[in-house]
Amino acid sequence: MSAGEDRSRSAVLFARAQEVIVGGVSSPVRAFRAVGGDPVFVERAEGARIYDVDGREYIDLVGSWGPAIVGHAHPKVVEAVCEAAESGLSFGACCAAEEELAAIIVGAIPSIEVLRFVNSGTEATMSAVRLARAATGRDKVIKFQGCYHGHADALLVSAGSGASTLGTPDSAGVTASAVRDTLQVSYNDLEAVASVLTRCGKDVAAILVEPVAGNMGFVAPADGFLQGLRDLCDEYGSLLVFDEVMTGFRVAWGGFQNIVNIKPDITCLGKVIGGGMPVAAYGGSRELMQQVSPLGPMYQAGTLSGNPVGMAAGIATLGLCQSGAFYEDLGRRAATLAGGLKSAAADYDIAMQSGSLGGMLGIAFLDHPVRDFKDAQACDHELFRRFFWEMLRRGVWLPPSGYEAMFVSCVHGEQEIQAIIEAAMACFGSMCS
Ligand code: PLP
Repeated sequence: MSAGEDRSRSAVLFARAQEVIVGGVSSPVRAFRAVGGDPVFVERAEGARIYDVDGREYIDLVGSWGPAIVGHAHPKVVEAVCEAAESGLSFGACCAAEEELAAIIVGAIPSIEVLRFVNSGTEATMSAVRLARAATGRDKVIKFQGCYHGHADALLVSAGSGASTLGTPDSAGVTASAVRDTLQVSYNDLEAVASVLTRCGKDVAAILVEPVAGNMGFVAPADGFLQGLRDLCDEYGSLLVFDEVMTGFRVAWGGFQNIVNIKPDITCLGKVIGGGMPVAAYGGSRELMQQVSPLGPMYQAGTLSGNPVGMAAGIATLGLCQSGAFYEDLGRRAATLAGGLKSAAADYDIAMQSGSLGGMLGIAFLDHPVRDFKDAQACDHELFRRFFWEMLRRGVWLPPSGYEAMFVSCVHGEQEIQAIIEAAMACFGSMCS
C-alpha cells in the first residue's frame, strides 16, 4: 500500500492545513519527511492506542513523544484536568497545585531543592543555560552532538532528531554569535570533553547532556561517562546540567540520575511531569536557584507557567507513576519489546540493535551498538523508512524518524507487546521477500 492510499481524510486535512499552517504541521517531525509520504491525522487516543481520522486503529509507540506514560486519556488524569478547568484555565497568579506538583518532584529528585515551572522543554533548557551563565559568570557551554535540548538558538547546534531528520543540524536564522559559545563534543567521548576543558575550562559555564540520549535513537551512556562529566565539572567549576526532559519520570521515578546516583547541578524536566499538558521545569540547589528572579538577577518568566490545569495533569500522572511496582513493570514490558524486535530482525538476518530503559526504548539498523551521533547517522535509515510504513500498515504507530526513541506506557500490556512483535516479524518477512 502506498503512503496516502485509503487515508482520504488525512490527505484532505493535510492539504487544508498546508494552506494555513507552515508545512501543515505544528512541529517538523510530524510532517513525516524522514519516512516520506504524508502525515496521518489523529482523531483521538485512548490507553495504548491511537485512532486516525480515517477510522484506523494503531498501537502507539510514540506516546506524544514521551508524556503519555500512563496511556492516553487516563480517566484519573482526565478527571483531574476537567475538575481543574472548571475552576479556571489560567490565573496568572499563584495556585496551590504548583506547590503540590513541585513538592512531588523535589521529593523524588535529591538534586532539586527548588524548581521553577515553565511551559516547554525548550524553555527549561534555555533557562538552565542562562542560570549556569548567571551563576558562574562564564559564557561557554558544552553540548553533545546528536543531543537535542529544544530549539533555543544557543542549543540548536548539532541537535538530534527533527534537526537531523531535516538535515539542518544548524538552523538558518541562528546567528554565528548565538552559537559562538556553544562547544560541541561527541557523545560518550569523555576524553574529548577533558581536552576542551583543558583548553578553555575557565570559560565553561555548563556541560549539558541527555543522560540517556533519546534524540539520535536510543543511546545509553557508556560506563563512567556521566560520572566523568560530574568530576570534570567539579574540577573546572562548571555546572553539570542533566536534560531529563525525556528521561525524567520516564526511565525511573525521578529520573536517570536516581539510577546512577549522580547529582547534576541543574535538572531540566518536561514531558511526563505535565502528563500531556505543556508543563516543564528546571531546578537545582536552593543556593543556585537563588540566582533566579525574583530572588536574584537572572530573569525568567511565563504568562501560563504553573497554570492549574497543567499542574493537575502532572499531579495525577505522577500519582499513578508512584503506585506499586510501576517502573519495574514498565521496564519489563519495554525490555520484552526491545528483545522481541531484535530477535524478529535476527530471524531475517537483519542487523538491528535494540535497547530499553524504563519506559523508553529504541532500535537501530546497524551491526554494532550506537554510541554517538556518527553511529546514529550510519544506521540504515532507508530500511527504517520501509519498516515504518510496513508497521503502520499493520497497525503500529512508530515515530516517523529513525532518530527518535520509542515509548511504552503502563497500559501497553502483554497483548499489545506481542502484537507489535508479531507485526514486526511480518514486516521483516515481507521486506525480505
Ligand atoms: N530536551 C529533550 C531531551 C527533549 O527530548 C526535548 C523534546 O523532545 C526537549 C528538550 C524540548 O522539549 P519541548 O519540545 O517541550 O520544547
